[in-house]
Amino acid sequence: MPFCSLPCINFKKFYHLVVKHIFGPVPSRRLGISLGIDLVPYKTCNLDCVYCEAGKTQYKTMERKPYVSVDTIMYELQAHFLNPNPKIDYFTLSGAGEPTLNQDIEIIIGAIKKEFPSYPLALITNGTLFSDPVVRAQVSKVDVILPSFDAASLHTFNLINRPEPSLDFNTIVQGFIDLRDEFTGKIWVEIFVIPGLNDELSELQSMKNALIKIRPDIVHLNSLDRPSSESWVRIEPLSRLEQICEFFQPLPCKILAKMVPTKKLARIEREEHTKEIQNHIQDLQEIPNNL
Ligand code: SF4
Repeated sequence: MPFCSLPCINFKKFYHLVVKHIFGPVPSRRLGISLGIDLVPYKTCNLDCVYCEAGKTQYKTMERKPYVSVDTIMYELQAHFLNPNPKIDYFTLSGAGEPTLNQDIEIIIGAIKKEFPSYPLALITNGTLFSDPVVRAQVSKVDVILPSFDAASLHTFNLINRPEPSLDFNTIVQGFIDLRDEFTGKIWVEIFVIPGLNDELSELQSMKNALIKIRPDIVHLNSLDRPSSESWVRIEPLSRLEQICEFFQPLPCKILAKMVPTKKLARIEREEHTKEIQNHIQDLQEIPNNL
């Protein structure tokens, strides 16, 4: 008798129908082996970043609502753990949209922490909603927050991040500062550097001034190494990224971008990561939201 007595269904396809909001584990340059948890429908975001690897924002919104319920997330996490499970360094709230738009994020964080207390929990976010004290309080129990901070002027913010019109740039920066004052975990700021957009000296000086007030635990510099929303986005040369890191001193700074992977493993990991994200995005595009 064959191991599976069911008609030979495509288990991977079936599994992705059941597990719609969990993806990975994937190798992450910042978080080791990370299990992604997506809290909003595909490309629901209040920004439309030119470098977004998930493509153009389809639902640009400021509306916070329970896009995905805590029951759904916990059910999918349990389903995931029924499968052979490799080592995971972090659970990560991230994905193809902005997780803080889910107004139940505090409940979801609490449930994950209760059910899986041994795993550290990370939040990858664009940080734009931290001007709201309610949002800051809701995410206070995660272990590390990884917000994006790509611009220090309204002009550059509009060029790179293409925000929902009601977002106010100065309020966002103050939200980062307030987050640092209140949050006891780690804050790892990521800057996506784009030649000609945010790598000029005046922009970098303004960014450094803001970062000194924000006091992140580390600044990560990233640059293009995957397909982006806009094909005109170019790679920042490694030598320029090194200069920028130097310029940001005494702020701790590290370059994330692997411009020329020197080890075969690095290349394989990057390709697998990209493939996993692309599979997740493809699954989300194929599956109706009412499933
Ligand atoms: S904030 Fe993130 S999900 Fe939203 S458009 Fe930018 S990169 Fe994409």
